[in-house]
Amino acid sequence: MTERIDGHTILIGLMAYPIRHSMSPMMHNNAFAKLGLNYAYLAFDITDDKLKAAVNAIRTLDMRGANISMPNKQKIIPYLDKLSPAAKLCGAVNTVVNDEGVLTGYTTDGTGFMRALADEGLNIQGKKMTLTGAGGAGTAIAIQAALDGTAEISLFNLHDTTWESAKRNVRIINQETNCQATLHGLEDKEDFKREIASSAIYCDSTGVGMKPLENLSLVEDPSWFHQDMIVFDTVYAPRTTKLMKVARQAGVKHVFNGLGMMLEQGAEAFKLWTGKEMPVAYIRDLLF
Ligand code: NAD
Repeated sequence: MTERIDGHTILIGLMAYPIRHSMSPMMHNNAFAKLGLNYAYLAFDITDDKLKAAVNAIRTLDMRGANISMPNKQKIIPYLDKLSPAAKLCGAVNTVVNDEGVLTGYTTDGTGFMRALADEGLNIQGKKMTLTGAGGAGTAIAIQAALDGTAEISLFNLHDTTWESAKRNVRIINQETNCQATLHGLEDKEDFKREIASSAIYCDSTGVGMKPLENLSLVEDPSWFHQDMIVFDTVYAPRTTKLMKVARQAGVKHVFNGLGMMLEQGAEAFKLWTGKEMPVAYIRDLLF
């Protein structure tokens, strides 16, 4: 690291709270070193009261940009100059790029999901997706999939605090994209089963399957799945979730955890800052 830092090193930040546990600094700094790029990526504890000043610091310090995580993903929007189409539709930002003082907000979680599928030679353009969850991850996935040409999305959610977000996502997708989205209550299991049966992909973005809901799955019966479909869990700890076990029992060919999505959302941000592709396979082998 000391060999790499000099008077020309360009800074990229991670602004969130709590954030000290994040793998992102390791991921980006190792990728910069591997490619010989003169950048450094540092994490900063940023809460609401410091957010405006932190965003101004991106301009003042001529930083190339930042990653943004909770609790700042929505709150940062008024402080930025521009938003990407996906960030605008999601109403959330996880990456900021500074182009000579003009700050643009992007959201790369949805792109990370689509890139993770592409890495496996899979494409859901023109196909139907059943998706559970409408929080941060589910919103990014639904909006990006719709923007990228997914034909239909059946969104299932509990009638909890994110139900309004689920309603908003479906409304926006139908208004702003060519994808046809429908909203369903997760309580109706027959409906859930029927929609999965007619889908090319089932994606779970609820976090069921990770602590404290480890060893649980929203689908427990392998007969709900068909072999030719994709089953994608956004959870990456544990690496094999209950949902993935159920899908494998059903003989589903394409079963994934969220590690590829996590790496690829970072790779998308890396590309926005540096113009270069992150060496994803190298980072995966090194850190995960
Ligand atoms: P969130 O809290 O914003 O949203 C959670 C969603 O799950 C809501 O729609 C909620 O209704 C639903 N939900 C919660 N508990 C449920 C239950 N018991 N049954 C059914 N639905 C339930 O969370 P988030 O930020 O969207 O994260 C969700 C998951 O996605 C987490 O596991 C997180 O680790 C994962 N994630 C992965 C990546 C990645 O890159 N792989 C990125 C972001 C999030």
